[in-house]
Amino acid sequence: MQGIEQFQSERLKRARLMYDGLTKAALAEMINVSPSTLTKWEDGTHFPQNEAIEKLSEALKIPYHWFLRPIPNQGSPLFLNRAKKRLLKAPGDRSNEMLLNLSEIYHIAVDWINFPDVNLIDSLSRTEALLLTYPQIEDIASRLRKHWGVGVSPLLELTKRIEKSGVIVTRFEIGYDDMDGSSAWINDRPFIFIAADKNNYFRSRFDISHELGHLIMHRNLTHEDKKLRFNLLEEQAHYFANCLLFPPNAFIAEANKISIESLTMLKKRWGISIAAMIYKAQSMQMLSEDQASRLWRSLRYRGYHKCEPYDLETKPEQPVALKNSIKLMLEQGGFSKSKIIDEFGLKKHLEMLCGLPLGYLDEDFGQIISMKSRNMHSLENTTSTYTKQGELIKFSRD
Ligand SMILES: [Zn+2]
Repeated sequence: MQGIEQFQSERLKRARLMYDGLTKAALAEMINVSPSTLTKWEDGTHFPQNEAIEKLSEALKIPYHWFLRPIPNQGSPLFLNRAKKRLLKAPGDRSNEMLLNLSEIYHIAVDWINFPDVNLIDSLSRTEALLLTYPQIEDIASRLRKHWGVGVSPLLELTKRIEKSGVIVTRFEIGYDDMDGSSAWINDRPFIFIAADKNNYFRSRFDISHELGHLIMHRNLTHEDKKLRFNLLEEQAHYFANCLLFPPNAFIAEANKISIESLTMLKKRWGISIAAMIYKAQSMQMLSEDQASRLWRSLRYRGYHKCEPYDLETKPEQPVALKNSIKLMLEQGGFSKSKIIDEFGLKKHLEMLCGLPLGYLDEDFGQIISMKSRNMHSLENTTSTYTKQGELIKFSRD
């Protein structure tokens, strides 16, 4: 039997990857087909029937027509995933797929919404990137600050500033504490994903600066370059983030006596973690080895390696551009929620990527039930009886 030929086999793999480590075997079981059937759909040698696509759609919470929508040409983006350790492959794959989806969402939204033009400083050429030195990284961070007109003052509302520079930013929980973020240029538009799992304002600001560093410094590297120099690229993006958040000359001027107490004050002012500043002081050779290890010991002794001061009470910055785009389309563009789902071909993942509460795009039928007015009266009466009783008790006591 022939299946639905418009079925986009690549979408099936993408759909699986958008979930955490969902294997072919697990998905096959969910929709009651054999893994080999799923493989045939995924490699495009067979097409699923209508009913099977409906089952896929239901199991994966992805609208039916998303599977039929041709995949736009997205080139072969260079994804730079940031993780504390070399991670399992799954979260990296997942964040890449989510960024590809994000780029599709952006390309659909741009028909109705005016996004800011990309307005960053020029990205480095491949040769410049391969020969990059640390003083040059300081210079790039300082040029970006100048470009933004912020000189050497603390960068407040960094996420909004980055969105205003034309970067499309998404922030959601990916389910791995060790995953920090990812970024890529897709069709000449920069995209950043920040993992929300740690729910930490200071970490998030560092992560977004780190990804921005990749976008500016490593845009023109090849996949092979990335493979060969991964650790170096990570260090460079780290150093860029550190310089962007707290320029080295300002750090030297303000951190003349380095102690946990003084760094705690600076943390609040500059929005950068104490640990990042100790690293910074070390890399700038402002500390002897002894001083540095004393600071690290003191940090651990106070439990700051797990949770630093201000971490819990400071709410992370949130991207707003995509969220506001969907809201604008609903409020001013004459879109219904079902029309939004239809246009974007996604619901749950659209909510996730745009930072909308899950369920936000559920159809709102208004209030279905309410109290009868007769009962409201009796409730009011009850309240007033209580009040009277209260008064009575008070009265009798006197
Ligand atoms: Zn990185």
